Amino acid sequence: MKSRFAPSPTGYLHIGGARTALFAWAWAKKQQGSFVLRIEDTDTQRSTQASVEAILEGMSWLALDYDEGPFYQTDRFERYQEIIQQLLNEDKAYYCECSKERLQSLREKLTEQGEKAKYDGRCRDKKLRSGVVRFNNPLDGFVHFNDVVKGAISIGNQELDDLIIARSDGTPTYNLTVVVDDHDMGIDTVIRGDDHINNTPRQINLYEALGWALPEFAHLPMILGTDGARLSKRHGAVSVMAYRDEGFLPDALLNYLVRLGWSHGDQEVFSIDEIVALFELKNINKAPASFNPEKLLWLNQAYIKSASAEYLIEQLDWHLKRQLIDTSTGPSLEAVVKHLQTRSKTLVEMADGMKMFYQDFATFDAALAQKQFKDSQPIELLFNKLSALDEWLADNIKEQIKQVCSELDIGFGKIGQPFRLALSGNGNAGNIDIVAELVGQKRTLARLKMALDYMAQSGDE
Ligand code: GLU
Repeated sequence: MKSRFAPSPTGYLHIGGARTALFAWAWAKKQQGSFVLRIEDTDTQRSTQASVEAILEGMSWLALDYDEGPFYQTDRFERYQEIIQQLLNEDKAYYCECSKERLQSLREKLTEQGEKAKYDGRCRDKKLRSGVVRFNNPLDGFVHFNDVVKGAISIGNQELDDLIIARSDGTPTYNLTVVVDDHDMGIDTVIRGDDHINNTPRQINLYEALGWALPEFAHLPMILGTDGARLSKRHGAVSVMAYRDEGFLPDALLNYLVRLGWSHGDQEVFSIDEIVALFELKNINKAPASFNPEKLLWLNQAYIKSASAEYLIEQLDWHLKRQLIDTSTGPSLEAVVKHLQTRSKTLVEMADGMKMFYQDFATFDAALAQKQFKDSQPIELLFNKLSALDEWLADNIKEQIKQVCSELDIGFGKIGQPFRLALSGNGNAGNIDIVAELVGQKRTLARLKMALDYMAQSGDE
């Protein structure tokens, strides 16, 4: 069994493409088959190297590994040429020299008459030697096929044009290259978006003209935004790498993507191994799927919560570099990650939360400082107690906080809030005793001192 993902490099890898890639990948893995990556770059006007790289980067970030490829269609022009020539020799294709103007007025005329605007075959029997090459589509009969997702489909040949298989400069077009490649590469299961379903009968006619066995087709339902319109930039990030940038875990995104058009009972959370084990083409839904960013965020949070520290550290690396957070001196990265993983929805949030453990800051959040740094007495007392602490452990730190409360007869909030602000600079911190342990004695004392200086200064004003 062999499946493939065949993106055109005309932009980044987007959510829809990644979903197609995932389904084709999962199906190949499930059957211990082979998964091929093919870059469909014959449209030299629109294809770019940057886009090829973006697609490869996206596949690699998602860890959708391919067994064969990447193959590039631009490396295969000779082969397409050979097939085009073969079809011409066998009178299964012909040159057409109809001008743009003629085709335009033909279209207008047919549309006016309420007919389907298709080429009228004027050059079919002219035996021309140049121009575009058109496929001699059968004039009557039907194309029948059984789509794994959509079921039985029949299209009358009269609906179909004599498709252009080579442009006038000789370059082959999509419908030809895809058939030649899927055949040559031994693809037996074509999984792709249902925006291609109208191409399938044309491709089937080509397979038949070439005497080649048909693959199985599975056309995936569209992905819609929450407003019911086709998913687009209007709905937020559609590029896969933008999700990396926003702090999503690749496994969470894959888990989310697999549920776009596929289900296994009402299970929502799947490990990658489970996706592979449970994936079935027959469980792909016919109905369009709806992209829900909130659910993706929920899933990401759930993944972060249950992930191993090791996996999170690996995934955080890119974010730490991007935010210039140097973790080589300071508390153990593993301990910090474990502390933060219960309170971070994204890796960006997590990296932000890490700053207080590895970076010093020069100022406090102004509004919070004004509110919380009013009474220096509890902070001063805490500073003295913590300076004398021998064993810098959360439990001992907590004990000192309690003692401050009882000695001064104040509630926990009166010391807890300013201490949290002193430690974090922005008030954003979890359990302060644990945070203080991780921040370390030296840094904690320096920050308390900074808070005291702040109060001394504002008292002077
Ligand atoms: N290259 C086509 C696209 O990116 C996909 C072709 C296919 O899967 O058959 O839309």
